[in-house]
Amino acid sequence: MLPPRRLSRELAERAGESVRIAGHLEEYRALGGVAFALVRDGSGTTQVTLKKGTTEPAMFTVLEGLARESVVEVEGTVLRSEKSRRGVELVPSRLEVLSAAEVPLPLGVVDKVPAELNTRLDHRVLDLRKPAVRAVFELRAELLAQLRAAFVRRGFLEVETPKLLRQGAEGGATLFSVDYFGTPAFLAQSPQLYKQMLIGAGLERVFEIAPAFRAEPSDTVRHITEFTSLDAEVGYVTDPDEIRGLLEGIVADAVDASREALTASGSPLAGGLPKLPRPFPRIPFATAEGWLGRPGAGRDLSTEEEKAVGERAVREYGSPFYFLTDYPTVVKAQTFYAWRRDDDPATTGYFDLDYRGLEIASGGRREHRLEPLLANLRAAGLDPARFGSYLEAFRFGMPPHGGWGLGLDRLVQALAGLPNIRESRLFPRDRYRLEP
Ligand code: ATP
Ligand code: MG
Repeated sequence: MLPPRRLSRELAERAGESVRIAGHLEEYRALGGVAFALVRDGSGTTQVTLKKGTTEPAMFTVLEGLARESVVEVEGTVLRSEKSRRGVELVPSRLEVLSAAEVPLPLGVVDKVPAELNTRLDHRVLDLRKPAVRAVFELRAELLAQLRAAFVRRGFLEVETPKLLRQGAEGGATLFSVDYFGTPAFLAQSPQLYKQMLIGAGLERVFEIAPAFRAEPSDTVRHITEFTSLDAEVGYVTDPDEIRGLLEGIVADAVDASREALTASGSPLAGGLPKLPRPFPRIPFATAEGWLGRPGAGRDLSTEEEKAVGERAVREYGSPFYFLTDYPTVVKAQTFYAWRRDDDPATTGYFDLDYRGLEIASGGRREHRLEPLLANLRAAGLDPARFGSYLEAFRFGMPPHGGWGLGLDRLVQALAGLPNIRESRLFPRDRYRLEP
């Protein structure tokens, strides 16, 4: 006897055996002499076949009166059946209702007509029962595990830094404030300052996978207020291309390993994980500006411009991922910790990693010398006195270093082909949504 929760997928190999399955009642159809109940568990749907004259009459009555999506447990014998979806059906000997669903359902699980995203998110527990939605989170979990493994293989130490802060990393515009025992405090927008401090602590290679909070006022398909940031910081690097090499290696390795795992498990999203040509193309920011016909405009790319650059980059290099390199200092003026080139102070050692026009990560070489760092802080209009403990790390021996911050939700959005970043999180948060 299989314990309940054994995958319905396994039933194909269990013809003739007695098993017990449990799951949500997807559908019940009575057709004269026979009736079919479709029971969905974590791996798929099993057809339970009831036959008049053989099956206990009470079972028909119970299922007749039971709402879709109720949870049932069924015991029975597995029989081969050409007509059913998995090539087997279950002939029940016992049926138990574990939890009856109410009617009507606020959201259909098997409806062909797609529901609005807001309705889906309002009733996310039902939405997540859809195999296609669940597949996104299987991809996410696989990718996360593979990214973590790719970091560890490269000698990175996993760390966790505080999310309750006295000071934000940069400007205060997107900081959430909290009342910390009567003192103002903030939710971390990024672990930026702490991961740099850990390089000062001699940890050499660190990474963190943790929530980041940003009070994004704009309602876009790529911004949420709580996202998962995958941050890395590396000591003793001076060439930004070495940092890019690590980032591209980690992303490409994780995508390759995830494709293998998802192909093996039959995920519908496996095909969306491309074999990535390496190295990813490097496109200087100035080249992208040239493509756009606005050289030296002194501002970052708009969403439309990012898209146009993405189309051109994919056309020219045949790679969905590419780096935009050598960001001008004027564009990174607020990024006080970004290293400005010694031979060309108008250019930073900063880059973005984009996927078809969607920014996935930002990073680069940081300024590790105290004096230029203080000058950058003042130029950004920030008071160094507010950054005491961060600056202390630079006063007692700070290796040259660099790193990046990558938005996991955007990476999942890109690889799963989701139109809206909200679909990449189980319970997304945005300006208008604080529940469920
Ligand atoms: P954008 O310009 O798209 O708003 P950003 O440049 O402000 O992003 P960074 O500070 O560079 O973002 O953060 C590093 C990464 O974190 C980004 O490349 C992105 O993948 C992710 N990220 C930043 N803000 C958000 C957000 N509000 N929602 C989801 N992901 C985000
Ligand atoms: Mg950025």
